[in-house]
Amino acid sequence: MPLDPGPAHVLVVEDEPKLAALLADYLRAAGHAVECVADGHAALQAWSDRRHDLVLLDLMLPGLDGLSLCRQLRAQTSVPIVILTARDDEADRLAGLELGADDYIPKTPFSPREVMARVKAVLRRSRATQLPADATVGMAGTAPLLVDEQGWRASWRGAALDLTPNEFRLLRTLAAQPGRVYERPQLLDLLQGDGRAATERAVDSHIKNLRRKLEQAGAGGERIRSVYGVGYCYEA
Ligand code: CA
Repeated sequence: MPLDPGPAHVLVVEDEPKLAALLADYLRAAGHAVECVADGHAALQAWSDRRHDLVLLDLMLPGLDGLSLCRQLRAQTSVPIVILTARDDEADRLAGLELGADDYIPKTPFSPREVMARVKAVLRRSRATQLPADATVGMAGTAPLLVDEQGWRASWRGAALDLTPNEFRLLRTLAAQPGRVYERPQLLDLLQGDGRAATERAVDSHIKNLRRKLEQAGAGGERIRSVYGVGYCYEA
């Protein structure tokens, strides 16, 4: 996996124009494309118009506050979210992380370099769970699973697996790193379109269906191993 996650589209949600401009300057200097919005509703609109790779989110916003925005984004996407907080308020930070933010950065003292370092680290983590474009898992003859990232298709020894988007997301992530155990909350973040009621049980039920489909294709049911009390891992 490359150390530099490469350029990204970043959505900056910040109502202080000077700070927004400063963040945008630094992000652009690092090669990223930047869109700035000043309130939560504009952020939701911007997000649905253009699925950014990362959201940099101020907590204190007019209208829809940052925590509510974080919750609403998480209900529809697993995009990395980095929270900026002016107050050194542990309760706010914890609330943000519990709502699914990936990291938080204090605004005081404000260090653009730290922001850039965190952005890079979060992008790297997020991309480590994705395969590079056109990647296949394993080599022909050694691993029979083929995941076509761009075509949203997977096959087992040439037999197409008829997967739902959520099953594909789970398989793509698990199979990208055989032997790595993913926790249920991490896998839950991958699921989309299940609405806010999606729980860790939804992960279990998608995994169950995924196993059945792998089994029907001749893969055997134990390719996706349960790790009791933790989550799941793909066995190469
Ligand atoms: Ca603010």
